[in-house]
Amino acid sequence: MSAPDMEESVYQAYKKDFQNGVITLGNICSADCVFCSQKWNPPGVLQDLNRLLTWRETKHFIDEYLVKVGLNPDVEPAMGSALHTNSGEFFLHPDAAKILQYLKSKNKVQDKQVIISNGMNITQEHVRLIKKLKLGIQMSLNCCDIEARRAIMKGSYLQNKNAVEAVDLFEQHGISYEIAIVPYKKYLHNGVLEDVFRCLKGHHVKSFVVHKPGHTRFTPDAIAEELKIDDQELLDFGAMVRQKYQQRVSIDGYLSVERKMSEFFRIRSALARMPFCWSQPKLFLCSQRAEQFIRFVLKKAEIKNYRFRAVEPRVFGGSADCAGLLTVEDYRLSVQEYLKENPKPDYMILSKKSFDINHEDLKMVSAYKLQEMFNIKVILV
Ligand code: SF4
Repeated sequence: MSAPDMEESVYQAYKKDFQNGVITLGNICSADCVFCSQKWNPPGVLQDLNRLLTWRETKHFIDEYLVKVGLNPDVEPAMGSALHTNSGEFFLHPDAAKILQYLKSKNKVQDKQVIISNGMNITQEHVRLIKKLKLGIQMSLNCCDIEARRAIMKGSYLQNKNAVEAVDLFEQHGISYEIAIVPYKKYLHNGVLEDVFRCLKGHHVKSFVVHKPGHTRFTPDAIAEELKIDDQELLDFGAMVRQKYQQRVSIDGYLSVERKMSEFFRIRSALARMPFCWSQPKLFLCSQRAEQFIRFVLKKAEIKNYRFRAVEPRVFGGSADCAGLLTVEDYRLSVQEYLKENPKPDYMILSKKSFDINHEDLKMVSAYKLQEMFNIKVILV
């Protein structure tokens, strides 16, 4: 099949998403959430098609590039575990049902693989299909109060009502579903957030996930302020919910002990595979958020002859919770400052998490550009 007719940069961006296990059908969403990760970014960060992919285009990307989660060693299961449109809504696509059936017939999705949705366009037919194909769903519910939901997700009253009522459809059909919530300070304080747990008490929700969204320097102050919630406050909220409503809430960004351990072993074994640089001077670079954890791993792994630097997210600014918002430019500035006062290391060791499967950052700049700039070997772990 011939390649879709679109700008090369847009084609490459879509190709990359499919290679990463993310099925991107377009950047169009039925919601317009104030906390949407792409909403306030400057133009050009997201390669925008300004329309949905056609059926033929979707089929092309699935056939040519989509690798089933678990079969691609470069894609972490957590990253590729969901089907969603990158800054868009899967069920808004008129061929959503056909696409799901095609994915299943081509063995491109796993049983229980989760579709991320805002719920606004979900129909009975979709729910029946999710059950038949043995998929799961994670719905961004945010609030059970329709007007409160509308205030932060926009869309019409009926769309938001449809989303809130979709939970009952999931219950009726017995499908596996997760509820995602973005905590908004006002709603945390005035009880709207707690109401979600009161409304869903007795429902068979597989898990509640509270996603603390990031904000950048482009996010308006009033919204950034609503998103800045003290970590301890969220952890206390999760503990209250567990006790009062017997529901488990995971706060995204806090690794469970189990995941912390697997991350620890992953990084430690990656370091063990690099005996060639054990004795050489090396510089570890990571996000400010990961600093404490990485320092701990380096100490436990008894790594020698290294220096360490936490990289400030200067390009996008804002909170370090915005995964992947460290760019090559941030690393460049950080290394440049480091070299003013320190001798040149032989290696720069960076986290893979800042880059995609092609080792490029959000602006499609390769991590290995740093190698050319500084003549220091780059290693991604
Ligand atoms: S539902 Fe998701 S993709 Fe759509 S606007 Fe909201 S956050 Fe963005």
